[in-house]
Amino acid sequence: MTPSPTALLPLALLLAACAPRGDAPAPGPRASPKADIAATPACADDAGWDDPAPPVHVHGDTWYVGTCGIAALLVTSPDGHVLLDGATPAGGPLILDNIRAAGFDPRDVRAIVFSHEHFDHVGGLAALQEATGAPVHARAPAVATLARGASDASDPQFGELDPFAPVAQVREIADDAVVRVGALALQAIPTPGHAAGGTSWSWRSCEDGDCRQIVYGDSLSAVSADGFRFSDAPDLVARLRESFASVAALDCDILITPHPSASALWTRLGPQAERPLADPSACRTYAAAGAARLEKRLADEAATGAAP
Ligand SMILES: [Zn+2]
Repeated sequence: MTPSPTALLPLALLLAACAPRGDAPAPGPRASPKADIAATPACADDAGWDDPAPPVHVHGDTWYVGTCGIAALLVTSPDGHVLLDGATPAGGPLILDNIRAAGFDPRDVRAIVFSHEHFDHVGGLAALQEATGAPVHARAPAVATLARGASDASDPQFGELDPFAPVAQVREIADDAVVRVGALALQAIPTPGHAAGGTSWSWRSCEDGDCRQIVYGDSLSAVSADGFRFSDAPDLVARLRESFASVAALDCDILITPHPSASALWTRLGPQAERPLADPSACRTYAAAGAARLEKRLADEAATGAAP
């Protein structure tokens, strides 16, 4: 589906409906997506984080604009767009290129959200915010990390995470916030554990009468820096288990994950897709994989008496 020509709404309506963005103009007419996008070569499942990918139409008004190895999504509307995730510092400019290649103007992005506050997903946000003028919406546990450009000791991977450019405009949102731009409504689902501010996102997408629930499911993996023991962090284990339950319970037709390989995206999307993009069991499967990994990790810690 191609983006429809923009209807210029009265400014008051736009401001009422959107996250305000200062002096940016209303979205203007834009070019159609390039016709040759679908012919661009595919991404490998084990692609590098900064390997360029073409923009790929997902469903309805949702586009994949990330790299081959790190996801970013653009949910579009005539009143402005929402960008999900910023990839690495090197990936941020590739996201901008993809937004433009898909036929959209980065200055029409009205809100930025993200999966979790690790450098491989928020490293490009400062540059993306500068290019778009859009605020970054964050649940409370991630606000200070984004502003500082570094995680703290509450993160199980603390000490092994790269710092990133601090994000200037961070807007704190409630755990159950709905981020709205025009008719778009993206529901936040708190999924802490992998990172304290981890958030999954869900929205309705319709295309020619075919409506699907898209879920951008945050990382659920129990990974840590050397020496960290999940067994010694029962609160963290509890949060992870709650996150597994939350994701498993979601209405979920199309799952996309911040690491595309975690949901085998490149077997489901793009010219080499070999199975359907939609799978109503995808979120349950994804949550079960996260749970199995945590249980194995706890068992390994119990067996060795130390972090594996
Ligand atoms: Zn991470």
